[in-house]
Amino acid sequence: MNNLGLNDILNSLREPTEERRKLITEAFNFAVKAHTGQKRRSGEDYVQHPIAVAKILAEIGMRSKTISAALLHDIPEDTQTTLKEIEEKFGKEIAGMVDGVTKLGRIKLRGSHEEYFLENLRKMFLAMATDIRVIIIKLADRLHNMQTLEFNPPDKQLRIAHETMEVFAPIANRLGMGEIKAKLQDLAFKFLDEENYNKVKQLEEKNYKEREQYLNKAIRELREEIEKGGIKVMEIHGRAKSIYSLYLKLKERDMDINRVYDLAAVRIIVPEVADCYEALGIVHKKYRPMIGRIKDYISLPKPNGYQSIHTTVFGPDGKILEIQIRTQKMHNEAEFGIAAHWIYSEQKKKKNWKDYFFRKKPALPEKELEWVRQLQEWQSEIGRDNKEFMEGLRIDFFKNHIFAFTPRGDIIDLPEDATPVDFAYAIHGEVGNHTIGAKANNNIVPLDYKIQNGEVIEILTSKDRKTPNGDWLKFVKTSVAKSHIRRELRKENSTKQ
Ligand code: MN
Repeated sequence: MNNLGLNDILNSLREPTEERRKLITEAFNFAVKAHTGQKRRSGEDYVQHPIAVAKILAEIGMRSKTISAALLHDIPEDTQTTLKEIEEKFGKEIAGMVDGVTKLGRIKLRGSHEEYFLENLRKMFLAMATDIRVIIIKLADRLHNMQTLEFNPPDKQLRIAHETMEVFAPIANRLGMGEIKAKLQDLAFKFLDEENYNKVKQLEEKNYKEREQYLNKAIRELREEIEKGGIKVMEIHGRAKSIYSLYLKLKERDMDINRVYDLAAVRIIVPEVADCYEALGIVHKKYRPMIGRIKDYISLPKPNGYQSIHTTVFGPDGKILEIQIRTQKMHNEAEFGIAAHWIYSEQKKKKNWKDYFFRKKPALPEKELEWVRQLQEWQSEIGRDNKEFMEGLRIDFFKNHIFAFTPRGDIIDLPEDATPVDFAYAIHGEVGNHTIGAKANNNIVPLDYKIQNGEVIEILTSKDRKTPNGDWLKFVKTSVAKSHIRRELRKENSTKQ
C-alpha cells in the first residue's frame, strides 16, 4: 500500500495560499505526533486514515479549516491528546468540528432494519451537526473506512456496509453529493451482495470496449456539431454508470443490459444556461430524440438541487444514447453537492446554516438557497411518514430536541432540558424506578442535571431503591417519566394505607 504524505493533501488544495498550507501542515504534524505508534487493522500507520480523509476533502474543494479538522478528527477518541489541547492550538472553530465528528462517531446502527429507526438516525445526523462541515467530514471518513473495510472481520464488514447503504449514502444524496454517494453505494453493495455485485460488474465490463468506441465516436460528432453552432464546449466526456445504480436499473429490466438506455451517456459542459438549451437544439438536429425522454432539470431541479438537461437520442448507427447538458457550476454541484459551495464562496463570513434554515423570510444569495432547499426537502420527507413528528417539526426539531447516548451507543431522543431521570425512564420503567445516580461523559452529575446534546449518559441503579423519589416530579421533562413516577408513588401509597 502506498503511504500518503502531506504533499498529497497540499497538491489537491484548490487555492493553496501560504496561510492555508501552513495551517494544514501544522494539523498534519499534530496528527502524526498524536497517533504515533498506532496501527490500523490493515497494518499501516493509523495516521494514514486521517490523511486519506483530508485528501478526499481537499479533492472536493473543501477549505483548509475543514481539511485540518479532518486530520485531527480521530484524536480525542483514540489518543491521549484531548480536545482541549486541539482547541488551544487550533482554536474553537476547528475544535468544534472535531468534537462534532467525534459525537457523530458514537452513533451506531444496531441490527434494526426498521424504517423509523433509520430515518431517526438520518435526521439525528443533521440535527446534531451544528456545522454542516461536520457531516461532510463524516462522509469522507466513512468513504475511506469503506475503502479499507476488507481488513475487518466479516460481521463488522456487514454492519458497516449496511449502515453505509442505509444511512450514509442517503445523506450524501440528500446533500447532493452524487460522486460520494455513488462511491459509498458501490463499496457497500460489494460487501452486502457480492454475487449480484460481480454479476453486474461482469455485464458492465463485457459491454465496456464496444461502448467506449461508440462513445468516442459520438463525442467527436457532438463536439464538432456544437462548436459549429457557435457554442464553446468546455468539456465533453462519457460518463460511466455506477455499479449499484446500474444494478437498480437492471432489476427493473429483468437483468437485460440491452434495455438499459442510459448505460452509455455523454456529458456536455457549456458556459451558460442559455447555451444548454441551444446545445440541446443542436443535439436534436443531429440525432433524433426519443419521444418523452427529454428531462429539463434546469427549470425544474431535482429535490436535492440537481440541475441538468437529459435527453435520450438515437445516436451514431441509430443506437440509443443518453446525453446530459449542464454548466460547469451545475456540474460541480452535481458531483460535490453542498461541498461545491465552498469552491465558490471564497471569503464569505462564517454563518450558521441553521440560521438560514429558520429565518422566516429567506433573503439568501442564490448559492445558499440551493442547499437550504435540499435540507427543506429532507425535512418534508421526514415529516411525511411521521405525523406526530411533523407537528413539532418547524418549531422544535433542531432547537428543542437533544440526542443522548447509552454507553453502548444507542440513541435516546429527548426534549431540551431533559434530565438523567428522563433518560432512565426512556430506556425502561424499571431502570427509572431503580435510579440512584448518573454520569454524563463519565462525570458524576446530579439527577436534575440538564443533559447536553451528544452526551453519553450512564444511569447508576440499585436494587435497594424500590420506588422513585417524589421530588423528581419537580424537574423531569418527559411525560413518560412523569407518568411512571406518579404510578409508582400511587402504588406505594396504597400499600402503606
Ligand atoms: Mn475516522
